[in-house]
Amino acid sequence: MKKVYLDYSATTPVKPAVVEAMLPYFSEYYGNASSIYEVGRASKSALEKAREQIAQLIGARPSEIFFTAGGTEADNWALKSVAYDLKAKGRGNHLITTKIEHHAILHTCEYLEKNGFEVTYLDVDAQGMIDLKTLEEAITPQTILISIMYINNEIGTMQPIRAIGTIAREKGVLFHTDAVQALGNVPIDVNEDRIDLLSLSAHKIYGPKGVGALYVRQGTRITPFIHGGAQENKRRAGTENIAGIVGFGEAARLAGENLEEHIEKLTALRERLKDGLLAAIPEVVYNGHPTMRHPGNINLCFKYVEGEAMILMLDHLGVAASSGSACTSGSLDPSHVLMAIGLSHEYTNGSLRLSVGDFTTEADVDYVIEKLPAVIQRLREMSPLYEAAEGGRQ
Ligand SMILES: *Cc1c(COP(=O)(O)O)cnc(C)c1O
Repeated sequence: MKKVYLDYSATTPVKPAVVEAMLPYFSEYYGNASSIYEVGRASKSALEKAREQIAQLIGARPSEIFFTAGGTEADNWALKSVAYDLKAKGRGNHLITTKIEHHAILHTCEYLEKNGFEVTYLDVDAQGMIDLKTLEEAITPQTILISIMYINNEIGTMQPIRAIGTIAREKGVLFHTDAVQALGNVPIDVNEDRIDLLSLSAHKIYGPKGVGALYVRQGTRITPFIHGGAQENKRRAGTENIAGIVGFGEAARLAGENLEEHIEKLTALRERLKDGLLAAIPEVVYNGHPTMRHPGNINLCFKYVEGEAMILMLDHLGVAASSGSACTSGSLDPSHVLMAIGLSHEYTNGSLRLSVGDFTTEADVDYVIEKLPAVIQRLREMSPLYEAAEGGRQ
C-alpha cells in the first residue's frame, strides 16, 4: 500500500545527512564536553560548531544559544525563569500571551496563574491573527513578559512578529516567541524582529527528537531552570546531548542553505493539495490566514464529519495526518485553536491538518486528492446530522 506522511508539523524524519553527522558522536567522539583531554575537546568543539550553525539561522550570536531537551523545555524555561526572577525583583507579575499557543506555553501559563501570576490571553480573529492595538492596551505597569508564538502549529497562521517586538521594546517589556514551527520555514532574524527570547526544536526541522534551544538576547537575564553542573554557561545543567546537538546543528545548516527552495516547494505542494480538495469536497472551510502562514500547513474543517474517524480511515489508506479534535486526550473538547478562531462545533469536530514537507511529492498530494473525497462522503453518510440536513434540502 502507498504510504503518505502528511504530518510534518507533528514531527519530521531525520535527514540522512543529519544521521551521518551524528553517528561519530556516539562511539568515536564519545567524550564529555566538560573533559579537557582530547576526546572531550572533540565533543566540546562539535557542541560549539552546532551552536554557531543554529545562531546563524536566526541571526543571533552563538553565545545567545542555550541547548535544551526540546521546544517544551525552552518554553517552560523562558516563561518560568523570567516570571519568577522579575516578580522577585518587584517588576510585576503580569504576562501576556494568546489563546492559540501550544500547550507548552498555555499549561505553563496556567501553572503560573496558580502561583501568584496574572495572565492575559489575547483573542485572535477568524484567521488566527492577534490585534496589535489590543496587545498594546493589555500592557500594564505590572507586565513583565509577552509570549506570542511565531507560527501556529494547527492552523499555520504567522503573527506580525516584528510589530509585536517593536511594541514590547517601546514599552520596556520582554518579548518571547515560540518559533518551533517557524524555524526553517520562514526567515527569522531576532534583531530585526526585536525578539528577546525564542524557543526552538530540532525534530520539526529534520533533526532528532529531544533536542532544542532557547535563544536569549545578550543582556537579558535568564536564571537556570535545570540546576546542577556548569554546562551551557551555568544556565542549563546536565551533560550535553552531543550527538543530538550535532544533529540539530546540521539540520539548521541544511535548513538555512535550502530555505528559499524549501519554501517554494512546500508552498506549491500546499496550494495543489488545498485547491484539489476544495474543488472536490463541499461544505468545508480552509482555516488560517490566506497569505501570512506556514508554507506547508493546511487546516480544513469538514461539516458533518468526526475528526478521529477521518484520521483512522486515512490511516487505512496509508495516509498519516492529524486532527485538531482532542479525542486522543480522552476528552471530546474541540481544539482550543479552532474555538479561538470562532468556528462552530459542527465544523471543529471535523478538523484535519495536513502538513507537507521536504520528502512530500506531487504523487503523494494527488493520492490524497483522489482518496479523501470518498472518505468524507462515507463519513457523512454515517452522520445523522448530515442525513437530517440532506433530507431537509430535498
Ligand atoms: C512541537 C512544538 C513544541 C514542542 O517542541 P518539542 O521539542 O516537541 O518539545 C512547542 N511549540 C510548538 C509550536 C510546536 O509545534
